[in-house]
Amino acid sequence: MDVLDFVTKNLNPSQKDAVETLEGPLLILAGAGSGKTRVLTHRMANIIGQGVAAPDEILCVTFTNKAAKEMEHRIYKILADMGARVHSQLWINTFHSFCVRVLRQHLTLLDYKPFFGIYDSSDQLSQIKKVMTALDINDKMYPAKNFQGAISRAKMLGLNPDAFEKERKNSRHFADAKTIEVYKLYEKEMKKANSLDFDDLLLKTYELFRMYPDVLQMYQEKFKYIMVDEYQDTNHIQYLIVQMLAQAHRNLCVVGDEDQSIYSWRGADIKNILDFEKDFREAKVVKLEENYRSSGNIVGAATAVIKNNSERKDKTLFTSNPAGDKIQVREERNEYDEAKFVAKTIQTMMNEGEGSYNDYAIFYRTNAQSRVLEEQLRTLSIPYRLVGGVRFYERMEIKDMLSYMKLAINPADDVAFKRVINVPARGIGKTTVEKIEEFAFQQNLSMMQAALKACEERVFNAGTTGKVRRFVELMGNLQELALKHPLVEFYPIVLDMTEYLVALKKDESPESLARIDNLEELDNAIVQFAKERGEEGTLTSFLEEMALVSDVDSLNQEQNSVTMMTLHISKGLEYPYVFVVGLEENLFPSARSLGDGDTEEDVQEERRLAYVGMTRARQKLWLTYAKMRRVWGQEQFNPQSRFIKEIPQEYIEFKTAAADAPRFMAKYGSSSYDSDETWGRPQWGATSGSRNKPRSYEDESQSFPDYDDAPASSGGGFSKGMRVRHPTFGAGTVYATEGEGENFKVSVMFTDNTVKKFVVKYARLEKI
Ligand code: ATP
Ligand code: MG
Repeated sequence: MDVLDFVTKNLNPSQKDAVETLEGPLLILAGAGSGKTRVLTHRMANIIGQGVAAPDEILCVTFTNKAAKEMEHRIYKILADMGARVHSQLWINTFHSFCVRVLRQHLTLLDYKPFFGIYDSSDQLSQIKKVMTALDINDKMYPAKNFQGAISRAKMLGLNPDAFEKERKNSRHFADAKTIEVYKLYEKEMKKANSLDFDDLLLKTYELFRMYPDVLQMYQEKFKYIMVDEYQDTNHIQYLIVQMLAQAHRNLCVVGDEDQSIYSWRGADIKNILDFEKDFREAKVVKLEENYRSSGNIVGAATAVIKNNSERKDKTLFTSNPAGDKIQVREERNEYDEAKFVAKTIQTMMNEGEGSYNDYAIFYRTNAQSRVLEEQLRTLSIPYRLVGGVRFYERMEIKDMLSYMKLAINPADDVAFKRVINVPARGIGKTTVEKIEEFAFQQNLSMMQAALKACEERVFNAGTTGKVRRFVELMGNLQELALKHPLVEFYPIVLDMTEYLVALKKDESPESLARIDNLEELDNAIVQFAKERGEEGTLTSFLEEMALVSDVDSLNQEQNSVTMMTLHISKGLEYPYVFVVGLEENLFPSARSLGDGDTEEDVQEERRLAYVGMTRARQKLWLTYAKMRRVWGQEQFNPQSRFIKEIPQEYIEFKTAAADAPRFMAKYGSSSYDSDETWGRPQWGATSGSRNKPRSYEDESQSFPDYDDAPASSGGGFSKGMRVRHPTFGAGTVYATEGEGENFKVSVMFTDNTVKKFVVKYARLEKI
């Protein structure tokens, strides 16, 4: 069989057309589950199989590292089945990992030193706070997070501090003087730390290409074919990079669905896909119209919902799959009952032999909704895993170890320096660290250099000088050892020489034991990484990979358990059985989208999110809502989500909890909760119910928890490090605090090493 027959044998005619069309710009615009990702995979195999280009002459960009790995795996499989050999490396990356690959080669051109570090969002926040202190800007009046958001938005638009300032002069609304001041100094400090944040990875690549046309030209010529999956969620800077790279060969194939654009809050611009034909007038457009993933009822319902959006291209999506079961719409009294229903349904179905736990997924709008669900799954002993939330690599002990390793190869990394200088405790107090920081600012040195200089110039008393000097020497030694030893040997050296492990072992609390387990797990990860990468498995590449793993990447399908995640992270995935919970007005669509401002646009984005969630399901879909839900300790009564009402009756089977039989028609929503005496009365003796808009549902689509490194505030007498007990979760330690007064929140790490955040006012936390 020839290559083309081979790569197209399981494709429909439109898919085949897309796989065969290699020359020129190509737009594949199609609804969910129509095989877009599959087409990209086969197209790449086609190009390699035909020998039109070598594997390393094709750039493919996916949305997550997990998707990249999966695609790579499939391509290898297709090629192996064909008997074709792969001689060079594949370039299947996320935008971020592509940029790291480029910058690793060329960033020195922009005046950085080799071995630059990557700051995640919490490192970035520490850096911004440091800058704010230097500029004497009050964190209470001007929250650091606001600056973080503004800087990130500027970078996503391709604006460095100077361009940002110019932009400000041109337009009234964009940035205030303080933001510019913070951005400028932040930039300077990042440079000094020889580190880049996530947005920098893209911005610096863009700047590199602009400033060094020969470097750009090299990549332009190298990549004969470029493909981008989930193109509807590219932001402006990603768009610019793709445009630049595609100019030489113009063989750019983008794939997407404007109905699944759900990341505008992260700067994604739906116009990128809508305007593709303007950007490339010669573009060929292929539409895929058959959905292979879902049952007829699911496709019908999802299509009906998305039809209510105005800003979209008209598309057809049909399926030859059987209609299947109707969509189960379920009304419950409150979030506990809703969670019980979900857990119970999974239990019943599993008892009836329907699939394995892996086949079930639960999606919610905000991470906060997961707690009650987890509780109920645990009660019924249903194994589950949470995607997002606190990620392995964000755990305290893991970040500590990674910081030591980062500092060993990049001594200029001040955030890492501050994180570990007194961890484990070395008797170096906060004042000393502040002095070092101040000294570093004055002298324009990194904190490491400043610490050494301060010792030499006797800035501290003899005792402190000794301690600081020992730390600097320790890091000096580690720096040397990092060069001498391969990664697998270096990690145990760090554990040992920093005395981190000894300190944990001395402290015999269950938390410490869990931390030791995690440090062991990190060792496993390192060994595995080194094995997979061989020669390339260096400390630098490991740290890079660690910095880039995203929520969904940690999803390990092998473990047999129910998957729980936010709707945002569910994009691109599929499961036989899907529950979408919390379909209530003000939660989904979120209160924010219904608030002031660009309401209609925001609701449309929420609707796309509903479409994404529903179209993940292959066989069965449940949509549930609670008539009453507690948010930040307040009872909220919200009507059924408009997204349920938008589904035609014919696709739905509607049930309420009480009668377990049809009571209200879904179309009319739940009509009479006031007169229903059996529920809705405060059950937890909490504050009075509120029918108003929720004060704040956290928009946790981002699920990047940020632990406040600031000293603990005094709210409710809870402070960092304090031991507490929660009636449901048991004993734990306060890990971080934030907010004030009514909003004072604590994050507590429990003995099973999970971290949960509570509003102190409402949580029944007890000091122990
Ligand atoms: P999404 O919009 O959710 O990203 P998609 O358009 O990328 O979806 P895929 O994930 O590529 O769709 O495909 C959806 C499902 O349909 C997959 O399980 C895929 O294997 C299957 N599929 C796609 N095309 C065909 C085909 N021609 N024959 C059989 N199955 C197919
Ligand atoms: Mg896809």
